[in-house]
Amino acid sequence: MSPVRPLPETGRPREQILQEMQSFRSHDVPWKDGKVFSLVYYAGEDVLQMAKDASMLYFSENALNPTAFPSLRRMETDVVAMTASLLGGDEDTVGNMTSGGTESLLLAVKTARDWGREHRKLTGMPEMVLPETAHPAFEKAAHYFDVKSVRVPVREDFRADPEAMQKAITDNTVLMVGSAPSYPQGVVDPIPELAAIAKDHGILFHVDSCVGGFILPFIKELGYKVPEFDLRVPGVTSISADVHKYGYAAKGASVILYRNSELRRYQFFAEINWSGGIYASPSLAGTRPAGPIAAAWAVMNYLGRDGYLRLAKSVMETVEKIRAGVQLISGVEILGDPDASILALASKEHDIYEIADELEIRGWHMDRQHRPPSLHLTITPAHAPVAIRFLEDLAESVDAVSKPNPARWGRAALVKGTNALVRVLPRPVVSKTMALAPKLFKGSAEGGGGRAAPMYGIMGSLPNRSDVKKAVLELLDQIFRPLE
Ligand SMILES: *Cc1c(COP(=O)(O)O)cnc(C)c1O
Repeated sequence: MSPVRPLPETGRPREQILQEMQSFRSHDVPWKDGKVFSLVYYAGEDVLQMAKDASMLYFSENALNPTAFPSLRRMETDVVAMTASLLGGDEDTVGNMTSGGTESLLLAVKTARDWGREHRKLTGMPEMVLPETAHPAFEKAAHYFDVKSVRVPVREDFRADPEAMQKAITDNTVLMVGSAPSYPQGVVDPIPELAAIAKDHGILFHVDSCVGGFILPFIKELGYKVPEFDLRVPGVTSISADVHKYGYAAKGASVILYRNSELRRYQFFAEINWSGGIYASPSLAGTRPAGPIAAAWAVMNYLGRDGYLRLAKSVMETVEKIRAGVQLISGVEILGDPDASILALASKEHDIYEIADELEIRGWHMDRQHRPPSLHLTITPAHAPVAIRFLEDLAESVDAVSKPNPARWGRAALVKGTNALVRVLPRPVVSKTMALAPKLFKGSAEGGGGRAAPMYGIMGSLPNRSDVKKAVLELLDQIFRPLE
């Protein structure tokens, strides 16, 4: 397909267009059936309909200028205030809505950088100290804003290591980060210890509660043990929580909260010399879609505290079911001791990526993680009806990879052989090997029986990370091209 495609010569009928779009969707993951363990947070048709109705009501408005749309200002400040009440805010707490967790984290880092330039005597590039498990959006922030990211290994239990993090602080450190919980293994970092260290050093501390912010408070209320993680902890200066995750709102909605407005000032942007007039913007976007703000406000009011409690209860019952079930299947285990609703499934005896391939054959869409190799499970209300089915399929999948299987040995040999090879090959040859990556990925993405396990095995242990990065960037370039 040529990368240049003309518009259709004449407009086409609405019905035909909608029909064609429906047909495009036939290969998308069936998320309503709970077949995917990330990406979509589904709390039932009624919640979805509430979000859609609210979003459609505000389809065209623009939250860039809240003076033109006071209703948006009201809803955004309402959502922020309700979030602040969930996350231990007080009368000084301020915040904004953003397009998602990534934007919230980008803003937290930019704020810390600008705060640091004013309040710290920096001798070089501003730095932030964060556990290796913290979300890649922090790396994106480092990349965009010229902040040095100092990643620190986590402890055996996958939680941040306060002592090691303290040692990583320098005169240029402006920010420390902890997750509540982390995405890879679902554990809450020791926020009180970390924030105390940050406070001692006079630097800012951000809690990434993007995935946890709208479930941890309710889990706690249900009586589960939840470590302290929010603005109640001394030293925490900002926290992010995504309404489009366990808030069950429309996508494009996250909240960032600051301890006070002096801190938030560093987030804002104003340009006063433009010929178009004075331009002020609270966040990264210019034009800000109003739909996500409206949907967040509507769903939070629609569910209320009791609605969120009911959903959190259902999620945690499913989590317990899955944890108990996994214990009964020999050969697989849950990594660490997750604090909420995210689990990482691993295996000491088998190649977990082979197990993932078997699960995919059985209709599940699995996310592979590495360091250590594991499968990611974010449990949502959509998984309640399918938890037992998942455990049965998991048991079958473990069985399948335990049986003698020459094809699998072939694949294992491929991974092993490649890994041995790349360690001795000169770099250009390794790079050529990596050029195969898009093809390998493609095989699995199209579900044409292509297996992803060798791909992940190779990628995970390649000694030269820059080759992996190159291959991944090449893959992105391939993906964002026209389809037939
Ligand atoms: C989802 C997530 C993010 C990023 O949020 P997006 O909405 O995907 O941009 C950041 N941190 C954690 C822990 C997350 O789970």
